[in-house]
Formats: sequence, structure tokens, C-alpha cells
Amino acid sequence: MNILYRNTRGLGNEVTASQAILKGLADGGGLYVPTAYPKLDRSLSELAEMDYRGVAYEVMKLFFTDYTEEELRGCIEKAYDGKFDSEEIAPMAEADHAYYLELFHGQTIAFKDMALSILPHLLTTAAKKNNQTDEIVILTATSGDTGKAALAGFRDVPGTKIIVFYPKNGVSRIQELQMVTEKGANTTVIGVNGNFDDCQTGVKKMFTDETLKKDMAAKGMVFSSANSINIGRLVPQVAYYVFAYTRLLKEERIKAGDPVNFVVPTGNFGNILACFYAKKLGLPVARMICASNENKVLYDFFTTGTYDIRRKFILTSSPSMDILISSNLERLIYHSAGDDAAKNAERMEALKKDGIYTVTDAMRKEMADFVPGFATEADTAAEIKELYERTGYVLDTHTAVASSVYRRYRKESGDETPTVIVSTASPFKFARSVMEAINGGKDEREDFAVIDDLSKTANVAEPPAIREIRTAPVRHDTVCEINGMEREVRRVLNVPGTEA
Ligand SMILES: *Cc1c(COP(=O)(O)O)cnc(C)c1O
Repeated sequence: MNILYRNTRGLGNEVTASQAILKGLADGGGLYVPTAYPKLDRSLSELAEMDYRGVAYEVMKLFFTDYTEEELRGCIEKAYDGKFDSEEIAPMAEADHAYYLELFHGQTIAFKDMALSILPHLLTTAAKKNNQTDEIVILTATSGDTGKAALAGFRDVPGTKIIVFYPKNGVSRIQELQMVTEKGANTTVIGVNGNFDDCQTGVKKMFTDETLKKDMAAKGMVFSSANSINIGRLVPQVAYYVFAYTRLLKEERIKAGDPVNFVVPTGNFGNILACFYAKKLGLPVARMICASNENKVLYDFFTTGTYDIRRKFILTSSPSMDILISSNLERLIYHSAGDDAAKNAERMEALKKDGIYTVTDAMRKEMADFVPGFATEADTAAEIKELYERTGYVLDTHTAVASSVYRRYRKESGDETPTVIVSTASPFKFARSVMEAINGGKDEREDFAVIDDLSKTANVAEPPAIREIRTAPVRHDTVCEINGMEREVRRVLNVPGTEA
């Protein structure tokens, strides 16, 4: 089956997978979605015999149908290799009646590595396939994790440059150190005196700035996006759901066809949407439990049918989930309306104009397998402490949100279906919040003392990603104002403004 991609807002033509990956965002702010749901063409028991790379190929080949087997396997080989500190790539731990799928064994110790280690290869292959010879410039706004994962992914990849903007005072010290010590020769990291939304808006503006694009084209450069709206990030995430299921099968914890629940700590709705596509592939997924922190827009949406961002943005200990506009939800809205672009576009316009929209009962029925939950800051800290005290297993704050939501769901519903909790970050990345949860009270020690303590407490060696930032020199110290972002991009790329 040949899969094409169309715009959730209905504009433009259907495109191939490689074209959708190159473009990132579709016209008019829409997202690319597959025109049909492919189905697994290997049995679950066959997949259980394969390693991560094998399963990844079997999943991605169904979506990226214009890539040859050689191209796709080549991308997978380059992505899922010794950069991961676990041979299994995505190992699973069992603690207190749940399986924790650890997606944080890549270079930057958060799950963004699962997709961002392959995206650069998918993208440069796509450029070749489509005879696009311009240098690819990745512009990214980050609330902390995407930035470093994208830098690591694109570091020294020929034919690419990457510029990352982060909120100067809006990321953890460890996240900032990871980014400003980045060594790749094609990388630039810039702090912005503003919040994540300011960075995101500034980047989006540049993507649609025709003058800037023309000036870049004259110099042989073109923008592309590494954001989670790119299907080149979404599809690689489908693979680990299939992988997790088939590991449970291989270890005889379930039988082929048994239903399994997944709990996903959610922000932009990319990770859990990949689970939805995995279910559509035919994977026996029962419930998709959508876990939010105190920014519980999605919880309210799934319980009422109304998405309403007119509320205060709350800074929590799980910053990568501090998000009010979950971009990837648009794809679910589109699918739940029966792949109706007009019905989707209407709601996205309302969101932009009024900050609110409502879906119909029929659409809600299509989303019935999503179970919402949320955890407060106190719930999250208690979950870290209690699970540690019961089992010795230490969670990061994002995974703890999911774990807390699951604990309550299981108790209230009595649902004892085998359940996988998607673990999105290493506790080392959020060491201070984790140790404050375990010890109670504020931790005044410096960052690396806290990390040493965590290493002892969890009885886990500090990952290489932490070790390397202890002594690495700062290579990026530029800070700009919100309205100075374009000037920085022009300076870095040596594309002077016409007005200057
Ligand atoms: C990005 C991120 C999330 C949220 O994932 P989405 O795909 O945006 O829903 C959760 N946890 C961590 C650690 C992350 O980096």
C-alpha cells in the first residue's frame, strides 16, 4: 500500500512521505496526516523475534512508502546504534504492577532522542530523493529537551545547520548546560529573554516570512523543522509501542493478541498520538491513558469535549509538559471528524481567534479509548518518593506524572490489564526535583552534588550525558530579545537583511 500525506486543513496537494518530512509543517498551519491507516504485515510473534532496529523497520516501512528498503534501513542503522547506552535501545523495567518503558537511553537522556536520532537521516535522504540541493537550516524553539536532542541529532550532519532558541530563564540548569556546551560545528544556541511561547512564535514567524525565505534561497539555503509536528518525528515513535508490546510477548508476560494499556506523560500530544497510530496498525492497545501535569488542558478536553486555553500557564517540575497548545491534538481532531479537513480547520481557527473550541459527541466517541488523568505537583513528588521507598526504582518528574495517574486509574477503575508506563526522561535530567521529592524540602546544594546523591540513592551510574557537561566549556553565550531573533538568524547564516 502506497501511503500519501494530506494537510489537516485541506490546503495543497497530497504529498509523499519524503516531501512531507522535508516540508515539516503543511500550508496554512496544517499538519500532514496519512491518507490511510497502514496495517502491520508481520505477525506479533515474528516481530517479537526482531531487535529494535528490525521492529523499527517493519513499522516505518508501512508509513514511509516512498523510501527504498536500503534507504530506510540505512537511516535506522545510523540512528539506533552505540549512541544509546542500552543495547536494547528501549529497555523495560518492572516495578509495582507496571512496566516502565525506558525511552531515555539516548544521547540526551530524554525520549526526544528516539525520533531526533533518526530525523536528520530521514531528512537528508528525503532531500536527495527530491533533488533538493539547498543546505537545510533547522530552526527550533525548545522548552528544554527538544533543543539538545535536535542538536545531538543534527550535529555535523553534512548539508545541514541547526539554530536552537531557548527561553533564557525557562529551562533547568542541566538542560541549559547541555545546550550551551554543544560542540557540533554546524550548531548555534541562542537564549531569548522571553518564555517558550515567545521562542515558538518567533520561530513560526520566520518559517512563514517570505522575504527571509527568499534571501536564504538566494544563498542556497532552505528552512526545515525538527518540531514534533513533523511526521519524520511522529512515525519513528510508533515503533517503540510495537517494540514494547512484542517484548512483553517475548518474555511471555502476555499472549499474542492480549490487550495492553499505555500511559503517556503528555505535553504536545506527539508521543501519545504515536500510540494511537500503533493501535491503528493493529497493535492490541486497550486504553491510552493521557497523563497531564497541572496544565491539564487535555484532561479537561477529554472529560468535557471543550478545549480551552484561556487559563494561567503554570510552571511545574515537569517542564517539558508545560504546554497549553498541544499541536499534535489537531491530528486526532481531524481523524475523529472522519478525516474532515473543514471540520478541523473550523476548530483550529476558533482556537486561534477565541482560545476555545468544542467537538461533537460523535467525535468524542471516536476518542473513547483515551482516558485522561492529571497529577498535581504534590501527587508527582509523592509518587517519586513512594515508588522509591517501595521498590528502589527512581522516576523522573514527567514519568512520575504518568505513574501517579496510572496508580489512581487502576485503583478507581479496577482495570488490571497489563500496563506500560512510557518513561520519557532519566531522573538525572531533573535531579533536583527528584531529590527534593525523595528527601522533602528544598535542596540548596549545587547541581552536581545533587546528581552525586541521586546516583547513590538510585544505585545507578551517572549517564555519559551528565558526565560530559561537568567540565565542558560553554560554547554558546548569545542572548537576544524576542524581537531580535530574526537578526540573529541572519547574522549566523550570513544573510543580511534587505532593509539594512
Ligand atoms: C517532550 C516531553 C514530553 C511530552 O511529550 P509530547 O510528545 O510533547 O506529548 C514528556 N516528557 C518529556 C521528558 C519530554 O521531553
